[in-house]
Amino acid sequence: MNGSWFTTESVKDWLFLTTERKFFEGNRSNIWFIKGPAKNIIIDTGLGVCNLRHHLEYLNLIGPVGDARTCEVVITHSHFDHSGGARHFEKVFIHENDYQGLRNGRQTETLNYVKPSHFYENPYPGFDSSKYSVPPTPCDTLRDGDRIDMGGGEYLEVIHNPGHTKGSISLWYPNKQALFSGDFVYDCGIGSNLLDWLPTSCVRDYIRSAENMIDFIADRDVACVYPGHFRCIDGVRTTKILQEYIDGKQACGTKGCTSCMQCATFAFFLMGCFRCCPCE
Ligand SMILES: [Zn+2]
Ligand SMILES: [Zn+2]
Repeated sequence: MNGSWFTTESVKDWLFLTTERKFFEGNRSNIWFIKGPAKNIIIDTGLGVCNLRHHLEYLNLIGPVGDARTCEVVITHSHFDHSGGARHFEKVFIHENDYQGLRNGRQTETLNYVKPSHFYENPYPGFDSSKYSVPPTPCDTLRDGDRIDMGGGEYLEVIHNPGHTKGSISLWYPNKQALFSGDFVYDCGIGSNLLDWLPTSCVRDYIRSAENMIDFIADRDVACVYPGHFRCIDGVRTTKILQEYIDGKQACGTKGCTSCMQCATFAFFLMGCFRCCPCE
């Protein structure tokens, strides 16, 4: 299924993956579409340079505005590569700690890191990447433990795992034993590559969230983890990455290297010299 900017593939009979293939793969996020029994859920929305809603309507996955086939959007955290497209939807939810960043389109929380070379093709004629930003976006808040009802007794449970941002969440879909992890954990090679040095990050929180998630996975049969970037991984691999992350922090004294790097990136960010780089 190919749109002009988006590419969508069926992953399961209940799950579709949309990506922006003409954008730099390092920051190219996964847009998950869950076909729930009565309500569909979109997890993350990509950059927002083209209209994701129109693309999903074109594929007949959702109906036009006002149609009975409702969908809601859940944003795993405020960064631009996940939240940029939320502006095209009516019902958008984000954790309360990332709410202000998205609601007010704050650059320090949305990051807005794009370069002309990141666009392998222009999303539309006249597109200017230097003008890219996530606009103030109407949204509502989520908290840890909230359940997003999809009808038929099925739901997504919100797991707050701060660290990458203050309001980073994962979503647990117990009926499918599926975990949607955003940028909290994905297959980044080794765990020390997880991004905890951004202006939105906190190492201490990240370590605690990683420990909690390892326990969560140990207590459940997690069939698959659907991350915010790159390929799907199983619970064993996810635990390994999180443990590598924790071990790496303990080896360098928990704070040291990362907090210096965070200060540096934050300073550059404020000076406008460096628009905070998530994945390079
Ligand atoms: Zn992120
Ligand atoms: Zn990301």
